[in-house]
Amino acid sequence: PIYLDYAATTPVDEKVVKKMINYLTINGIFGNSASRSHRFGWVAEEAVDLAREQISNLINSDPREIIFTSGATESNNLAIKGCCDFYKNKGNHIITSNTEHKSVLDTCKYLEQKNFCVTYLNPKKNGIISLKEIKEKIKKNTILISIMYVNNETGTMQNIHEISKICHKNNILFHVDATQAIGKIPINIKQENIDLMSFSAHKIYGPKGIGVLYIKRKPRIRLTPQIHGGNHERGMRSGTLPVHQIIGMGIACKIMKKKMFDEIPYILNLRNILWNGIKNIEEIYLNTNLKNSAPHILNVSFNFVEGESLIMALKNLAIASGSACTSASLEPSYVLKSLGLKDELAHSSIRFSLGRFTTKDEIYYTIEIIHQAIKKLRKLSPLWEM
Ligand code: PLP
Repeated sequence: PIYLDYAATTPVDEKVVKKMINYLTINGIFGNSASRSHRFGWVAEEAVDLAREQISNLINSDPREIIFTSGATESNNLAIKGCCDFYKNKGNHIITSNTEHKSVLDTCKYLEQKNFCVTYLNPKKNGIISLKEIKEKIKKNTILISIMYVNNETGTMQNIHEISKICHKNNILFHVDATQAIGKIPINIKQENIDLMSFSAHKIYGPKGIGVLYIKRKPRIRLTPQIHGGNHERGMRSGTLPVHQIIGMGIACKIMKKKMFDEIPYILNLRNILWNGIKNIEEIYLNTNLKNSAPHILNVSFNFVEGESLIMALKNLAIASGSACTSASLEPSYVLKSLGLKDELAHSSIRFSLGRFTTKDEIYYTIEIIHQAIKKLRKLSPLWEM
């Protein structure tokens, strides 16, 4: 099948793999970066420092603001639980949105059991969260606002710069889950004035199981660690650093920085070809806000087509579906439902996500397959007018 699920994960770049291998075996740099008493440790630490710089270069941060975690899920947990615990005497109210990733939503649900109050904002029909509504929901005891940069199902982008201004005007911390934005939208964390930002290597051609939480140093943001132990990562996240993974993430960021400005228009062009190729299908609904989105995601729904049959008919395409049969839960996508889609349209939704290795030919083939599948399914559908 053709791989169009880059928002789920990406293949590791061959150059990244080559570098990583040098940090595993007896002939390589396998030391523990925390071993201060010998050379094996020193060189490993130097390598980690370099990766921290490469990652910082991609977002314009200070390397000391980068904390390594196991991925964006952990980063989101650490940012939200860690800050809420540390600043609990200042207040107990959090604002987030209903379309966040589960690692944000479930963390907030957990905190609700611990006496925190959470306001879940619904985006407008176009997927954007109203700035006015954010302002209205702020209370005296609001300590944190957590809003994602780019939604993982729709690709729709939030107005991070403006939300940041609102937060800082009201002395509220601002956390951003940028997992789907990194490498797809140029991020200058200093300009955008974000306090905490989560992202992961496996969405940008790096390895799985490694991610970052950016924590601003000026003014210094504090948090309570969620994993205790040997005081690694300035005490904020203990555990021996996975040096090879970190090297992988560093190189992936270095490559991304170099390629991004060519890659973004390349992917955007492919997405335009895809949308233009299918937009004339009858009863197709666009769930991505094309004017305000990352370039790599296109989410559409088809009326009068059953979700499960659609996935079966499209088995030559590796795509994500809003249909319940592809996930553990029976509910169709909560993200699409909170945009106001009825169940049937949420069920029959497809997320195409494009990446570095997607080709024009693959997109042309995809367009053809979609047309064929929809035609066939509608012929069989009793709901489709004859
Ligand atoms: N946040 C968003 C928006 C995501 O798309 C994902 C990955 O699917 C995550 C968080 C979790 O990332 P990780 O797989 O690194 O834990």
